[in-house]
Amino acid sequence: MGGKADPRAAGEKTTSRARLDRGRGALGPALELVHTGRAPTRAVLTAELGVTRATAGAVAAELEALGLIRVDARPGAAAGSQGRPSHRLEVAEDGPVALAAQVHADGFRAALVGLGGRIVATAPGCETVEPDPAKVLGSVVEAGAELLRTTGRRCVGAGLAVPSAVAEPDGLALNPLHLAWPVGAAVRRIFAECVRAAGITGPAFAANDVNLAALAEHRHGAGRGARDLLCVATGHRGVGGALVMDGRLHTGSSGLALEVGHLTVNPEGRPCHCGSRGCLDVEADPLALLMEAGRAPGPEVSLLQQADDLLRDHYTDPTVRTAAEALIDRLGLGLAGLVNILNPDRIILGGLHRTLLDADPGRLRAVVADRSLWGQSGGVPILPCTLDHNSLVGAAELAWQPVLDDPLGALR
Ligand SMILES: [Zn+2]
Repeated sequence: MGGKADPRAAGEKTTSRARLDRGRGALGPALELVHTGRAPTRAVLTAELGVTRATAGAVAAELEALGLIRVDARPGAAAGSQGRPSHRLEVAEDGPVALAAQVHADGFRAALVGLGGRIVATAPGCETVEPDPAKVLGSVVEAGAELLRTTGRRCVGAGLAVPSAVAEPDGLALNPLHLAWPVGAAVRRIFAECVRAAGITGPAFAANDVNLAALAEHRHGAGRGARDLLCVATGHRGVGGALVMDGRLHTGSSGLALEVGHLTVNPEGRPCHCGSRGCLDVEADPLALLMEAGRAPGPEVSLLQQADDLLRDHYTDPTVRTAAEALIDRLGLGLAGLVNILNPDRIILGGLHRTLLDADPGRLRAVVADRSLWGQSGGVPILPCTLDHNSLVGAAELAWQPVLDDPLGALR
């Protein structure tokens, strides 16, 4: 009361507070734009957020203060194709990381993944997977904890990729058949307990490995910019699928959507562990290729590696070529059915399916076009996945999500 406040200073204060309040809501969207490479400069960030230059500047400064991004203060860099030079925005190279873990039929792997889907460090695990999930997850988390100790990075949380459908809301692995884990294993709870026991703070998540691969590819790889992205991939065993719609995974009512491995693609084909026969899972995975080519699988490297090597090194061998064509035709049949049902604007293929596409892209695209209504007219692009370890990167995305949703709330 009666103070001699300078009205001009008060006005500036109000303006800057209002700017900050507006800015707080923009922190998450801004971080996501930098994280996914869609805002390489402050000018682009300003345009993408639809805010004033001052607000975008305050938002970028706040994210930099949180240690998440780096603002290159020398505006020497060109802004792109148009406009004047602008400050460059990058994820902070020494910023926090997420602990990512992946278990597959031939072993496990732990990694630290920063913003931008950058793998900071990895630790390969053992080559065999114990039938007790607690033992395996304990080992993979310990490998990740060791990486955190050696790098000294701050950890925002942990994510796990498993080769099984993961039922929500309880995080149960419903069909971890190739791991010999018990059906319905509570993988998310066990993983979270291992993470806490290792002294790692932050939330813990678990999901299907192909779902996570699709999420990672959508944000950082071959799926960028797609609106209805269909991903089909082999792991080391079996076949999985995922759909990312408007940037979010379509998981169905209880997390079990897109179980594409049990589409019938060869009615007279091999019996499947699901009780049917001729499923994509047993007709178009690495073991199927080796068997089709009359090669006995060896124990020295993973089945995926053996199948990839066979295609890359021996494609001129008529037996290998015929086997590959049989798999391409079956995969194409499966994709054609999915194209008709889902109407994706892009298909990306991972694991052995990526190698099959590389081996004969024309054949696969022709099968999909011939056998699907929408494939003929639209010509859905079919592309290879481009990220190394996309399931690991996707597992990290789960742990990064709370930070992307509310950077201030998650980090303070
Ligand atoms: Zn089946």
